[in-house]
Amino acid sequence: MLALLSLRLLDLIDQARAVHRRHHVDGEVQLASLLSIKTGACPEDCKYCPQSAHYAKETGLKRETLLDVDDVLAKARLAKEAGATRFCMGAAWREVKDGPAFDSVLAMVKGVRALDMEACVTLGMLNAAQARRLAEAGLTAYNHNLDTSPEFYGEVVTTRTYQDRLDTIACVREAGVEVCCGGIVGMGESLEDRAGLLQTLANLDPHPESVPINALVAVPGTPLENAPPVDPLDLVRMVATARILMPLSHVRLSAGRRSLTREAQILCFLAGANSIFYGDKLLTTANNDTADDLALIEEAGLSIQPSPSSC
Ligand code: SF4
Repeated sequence: MLALLSLRLLDLIDQARAVHRRHHVDGEVQLASLLSIKTGACPEDCKYCPQSAHYAKETGLKRETLLDVDDVLAKARLAKEAGATRFCMGAAWREVKDGPAFDSVLAMVKGVRALDMEACVTLGMLNAAQARRLAEAGLTAYNHNLDTSPEFYGEVVTTRTYQDRLDTIACVREAGVEVCCGGIVGMGESLEDRAGLLQTLANLDPHPESVPINALVAVPGTPLENAPPVDPLDLVRMVATARILMPLSHVRLSAGRRSLTREAQILCFLAGANSIFYGDKLLTTANNDTADDLALIEEAGLSIQPSPSSC
């Protein structure tokens, strides 16, 4: 794995490109929008996350309660009108608790599906019964990132274990919901850790249908605020290696895309990325301008993946 990740960059991109062309429509990119439906005050201590209650004093992030179902669906409609075919909703919870808030999330999922969009949620840990309820509501995918390698995980999060993450992913899979699972580069991990993350993802059977590759956004007030910026070519390597290892998955260019030049983004597309998060905001951090994204897609000769029902 390390050997693959460390290949001569042009050889790595060549291999990834060949795999991509065999399994995907070349140049097609899915647009996904991501909305924070419940912001801040999360009891977990993920060192990269401004939503953790542990760093609230330093980040100054304001806590918000769960958004209203109608407001969320209005945002989903706007995202659809702007071209997104997937709508992802994130709640800063440690875990799902049965009750009115979860019922509202189920209503959001149903509403998004009724708009003919894919629906994805990220709600923290959940159990098998909750995963089944989400499946019944029509959920397309559940996001639960592994973040990094099993060995480095304890350096980033101490309030849960790697096995907790794997257990939730198993519940999602068991319920018949697609898995969205990826990681973050730039948190101080070694090349071996990056390879270890990709190896763990590729060992999931079946592979996650969606693999977000994030570059750390070093938010002031979080413990990783002074982390050095990620070398864009490292991100290209991660994308290419993910593409080779998980040929059928959507590889999503996610957080940190705003710090990439247009050229670096195009290299990521060449290396096999076939989805971006589209919209002004990624949960609580700023994202690329949508007009710039559309211009880049046009200029690079890419095309927007149609919604599954219109294929
Ligand atoms: S569990 Fe999610 S919302 Fe909570 S601190 Fe970690 S990344 Fe942030």
